[in-house]
Amino acid sequence: MAQTETCIYLGQELADYGFKDGHPLGPQRHDVFQAELIRLGLDRQLAIQKPVTASTDRIELFHTADYVDKVRDYSRSGQGYLDQGDTPAFTGMFEAASHVAGSVTDAVDRIMKGQFRRAFSPIAGLHHARRHVAAGFCVFNDCGIAIEYLRQRYGIRRVAYIDIDAHHGDGVFYSFEDDPDLIFADIHQDGRTLYPGTGFAGETGIGAAEGTKLNLPVAPFSDDAVFEEVWPVVEDYLRRQEPEFILLQCGADSIKGDPITNMEFSPAAHAHAASSLRRLADEYCDGRMLGMGGGGYNHDNIARAWTAVVDAMVKPL
Ligand SMILES: [Zn+2]
Repeated sequence: MAQTETCIYLGQELADYGFKDGHPLGPQRHDVFQAELIRLGLDRQLAIQKPVTASTDRIELFHTADYVDKVRDYSRSGQGYLDQGDTPAFTGMFEAASHVAGSVTDAVDRIMKGQFRRAFSPIAGLHHARRHVAAGFCVFNDCGIAIEYLRQRYGIRRVAYIDIDAHHGDGVFYSFEDDPDLIFADIHQDGRTLYPGTGFAGETGIGAAEGTKLNLPVAPFSDDAVFEEVWPVVEDYLRRQEPEFILLQCGADSIKGDPITNMEFSPAAHAHAASSLRRLADEYCDGRMLGMGGGGYNHDNIARAWTAVVDAMVKPL
């Protein structure tokens, strides 16, 4: 059998990134996904990596030191909220969030060193956290950390971030909206109808970056027919940008039946996005592609969407 080209991050340290007391982002999401991965036999086509923690220095490539200290304090007490009420503290939160970030940057290392072409981390893609504050269930923004790490450790400037989560990836967008080199394409439910209320088509970047970003809001109840209309816009945009590394945030909350959104994609949309990006990564990026699970609060949808992405990453072309 050919050596596997794709690795995946699984383990309790990632499963621990989950809020308690019936919060939509609970601790079961990792196990639900892993069970489906095994049921489909996909685990046998992947190199399974244990979660890796991130050092404070690495987290501070993106986040402010004051914010990282605040997370450490709240994690010790397990009391209160990190934001206005979406992101409650829990004991061990700092360690769990550090494993989310560390696994993603470990994947970057393995891909950049040529050990694997592609990687996937299910408990990742925490795209709402800003540099100085938590938001929307997201403590450390592993997407933003990966972008900064690629640049500072490997000199990769032209990172492409593609986001098909139902929610706008505001923590990534606003952290890089004045950066002409960050390639950003985001399909999400119209901000007038869903948290965080941003990501309008006219938001294309500011200053030197004006006109360089792609926000593609779609109406509530948009289905695969809408996805098939907008995806070619993303592909054309990416071809023009000539990325060096592709990040995919493939939130499963854009699939029909999610309890907190109103989107109606099917896992076929996630499979299509992943195969298309895999081909683009082969064409422009020496294959370098990293998938991050993102949101998703219907467990069946998580299992189906993320395994569809993994399948697209491992199957023979
Ligand atoms: Zn989401």
